[in-house]
Amino acid sequence: MRIEEGLHLVMSGGGGFDLTDAFDCNVFLVAADGGWLMFDAGAGRDPQGVFDVLAEDGIDPSSVRHLLLTHGHADHSGGAAALRERLGLTVHAGAATAAMVSQGDEEGISLGKAKRGGVYPPDYVYHACPVDSVWQPDEVRRFGDVAVQMILTPGHSHDHVSYLVTTPRRKMLVAGDALFHGGKVAIQDIRDCDVGAICETVRKLATIEFDTLLPGHHAFTLKHARRHADLALQCVDRMQIPPSII
Ligand SMILES: [Zn+2]
Repeated sequence: MRIEEGLHLVMSGGGGFDLTDAFDCNVFLVAADGGWLMFDAGAGRDPQGVFDVLAEDGIDPSSVRHLLLTHGHADHSGGAAALRERLGLTVHAGAATAAMVSQGDEEGISLGKAKRGGVYPPDYVYHACPVDSVWQPDEVRRFGDVAVQMILTPGHSHDHVSYLVTTPRRKMLVAGDALFHGGKVAIQDIRDCDVGAICETVRKLATIEFDTLLPGHHAFTLKHARRHADLALQCVDRMQIPPSII
């Protein structure tokens, strides 16, 4: 789904726009350096789905050269292995995510608990994926005229990172599950979800300038995106926990 020139939504499930498989998170493509950066990989239950969307959008799959993961949860990283195998793209992640995704650590990414609880079907298969490039906290890399900074945003899970993507046109926060439209967060009863850390991450994100919010689920927003961080910050400042999408 073309959002505008250089920005596409190519996967999105039941917690979003029902573009691809119900379990997929929002997956965005950003034009960079004559190709595309992909942010997150969906659940991998329907590996063909994203290729159908790319075809509809007129995007040559081989031009998707980099995949950047926000965290290891299966709805964000489960599709990585198939994409890497089929496209030969470079997979990027923070160190904690890389350790779990490359090992296929189902308990680490809380997939074991999610299967036992019926959140994921018991026959869902997670495919471990080698991570080619591990980023340091706050590291900035350039892809042509696009700059990407990795920001540690733990809380929803211990390994969570977000990406601040600066293009000639926009300053975008690819927030994964750290911040959502309306100033919401994502709180789950999993081993590494930490409400205190979520609130600290809200404080950190509220210090960053961005105009576009591209979250892992629900609506994205193309203008005045800081208002969502400010709504979450208002809760935190009142010693309240921002509302959760879950
Ligand atoms: Zn998650």
